[in-house]
Amino acid sequence: MEKLIITAAITGAETTREQQSALPVTPLEVAKAVSDCEKAGASIIHLHARDDDANPTASIERFGEYLHEIRKVSNIVVEFTTGGAIGMTDDERLGPTSMKPEMASLDCGSVNFADEILPNSLPSMRTFAKTMMEYGVKPTFECFDVGHVYNANMLIKEGLVKPPFHFTFVLGVPGAMPATVEALLMMKSALPQEDLEWTGIGIGGRGSVLIPPVSALMGGHARVGFEDNIYYRKGEIAVSNAQLVERIRLLAEMFGRKLATPDDVRKRFNLSK
Ligand code: ZN
Repeated sequence: MEKLIITAAITGAETTREQQSALPVTPLEVAKAVSDCEKAGASIIHLHARDDDANPTASIERFGEYLHEIRKVSNIVVEFTTGGAIGMTDDERLGPTSMKPEMASLDCGSVNFADEILPNSLPSMRTFAKTMMEYGVKPTFECFDVGHVYNANMLIKEGLVKPPFHFTFVLGVPGAMPATVEALLMMKSALPQEDLEWTGIGIGGRGSVLIPPVSALMGGHARVGFEDNIYYRKGEIAVSNAQLVERIRLLAEMFGRKLATPDDVRKRFNLSK
């Protein structure tokens, strides 16, 4: 795809308000952050839910409130997480897809996540893929390791996900692939020869400064936001999610790559709003 898709991951499951005071949590805060990110150039929003105390939740109601408020102010493509948070059951993680967001992340394998483990067996991945197909939700293959790219290919071969495909490479999670250009190239070289787009994600200060821009320059797409990193640059906390989106937009402009609008993304992935 010629145009650059910027995904904004504005909240996540791990970042706290103590670390980042501008972390959007309530439906109104989330809608405002989404609208600002769209204005700054984002075309997909990757969404986790938090309760009023900012704890991660898989509450279908909460996801519904977010969706409701977002739709009042933004045309952005909404992607729900099904990675959820450490300790959630498969059913909890999958529950919000019943709200039929346009896209949802699909974790493509188990992974060490700092001191924890994010479990994703092949049978649960198949269940996630089947459920998304039933609801008409486009999966984003979330790959934390090279083997995960091959797992995604297995789902493709089994006919559980239909093209065009969207892959994300999540680099820099402690316990998984590092946020280096070498790791990014390895992930990319494992991609199947299919109709697909891929997005680079860097976790942590250094990774998030490196991986999204490099991915954008390599013809892939970029994800930024407080889920991945709270800093603008070393020692400087970002003031908003939109500020991080803005930086990728400026880079794209500098190098002559146009930005995809939400409707461009819908057209590319055959989504229906
Ligand atoms: Zn996420």
